[in-house]
Amino acid sequence: MVAGGLVYREAMGIGYLEAPLLAETGLVSHGFSTRHGGVSSEPFHTLNLGFHCSDSEENVYENRRRFFSLWGKDASDIVCGNQVHGAKIVEVQEIDRGRGASPGTALPGVDGLYTRTSGLTIAAFSADCLLVFILDPIQRAVAIIHAGWRGTLLGITAKAVNLLSQAYGGSASDLLVALSPAISRCCFEVDQRLVAKFQAAGYRGLPLVPTANGGRYYLDLHELNRRQLVEQGVCADRIASDSWCTYCGEHFFSYRRDNGKTGRMAGFISLNSTG
Ligand SMILES: [Zn+2]
Repeated sequence: MVAGGLVYREAMGIGYLEAPLLAETGLVSHGFSTRHGGVSSEPFHTLNLGFHCSDSEENVYENRRRFFSLWGKDASDIVCGNQVHGAKIVEVQEIDRGRGASPGTALPGVDGLYTRTSGLTIAAFSADCLLVFILDPIQRAVAIIHAGWRGTLLGITAKAVNLLSQAYGGSASDLLVALSPAISRCCFEVDQRLVAKFQAAGYRGLPLVPTANGGRYYLDLHELNRRQLVEQGVCADRIASDSWCTYCGEHFFSYRRDNGKTGRMAGFISLNSTG
């Protein structure tokens, strides 16, 4: 199996990415939005999908409606956490349907979700942070994880792999994983203090490249999370990832580039119903 990366697609004027690795199983619907195809104006132009910035709620509702309807999904059904850059991951079920579909209703303190309820759409939001999409094609389970540098430092991606196998009894070697665009090693400049935090947490051989600014480095978030997956037993050739960068890529919102005044992309994954 060759994982490849993510592919840019457009439908109904909306740009999004998907991982053929996941799509070709036929088991899930999934996608990662870009900023193209919505109704919001600057600085949220145009497909802002997050309520937790200062865009109008009407715009976000309309943008979410457009995005999720590409897969026949009702935006009022999605489930998400309120994303506090922690490592709390929860199982969600039918009763949670709609948590996070309107402001103030997202699951509190949660940065990761997993489920094996067919048709339940679990989602996460980002503007530079990495989203991790996980499918267990044998146990028929999915997870979505929000991993910025804080979540990565806490090992949230490794934790997700462990939780899935504890909950449903599957094997990490069966998992198929896709990593979303994020601020990448071309642009994610960090200081020595942040490097020291990773070292103090036991990370060795960090994927760092010194920048032209003394004492600062480019850190590779994708690689850190890829390593967490592989160390837990995920096969390297079952991880779809590539170099899409939210900071220097024209398709994306970037919190760092836009000094916090920007919108949010969404990623989601949902198990298809079996016939
Ligand atoms: Zn970049």
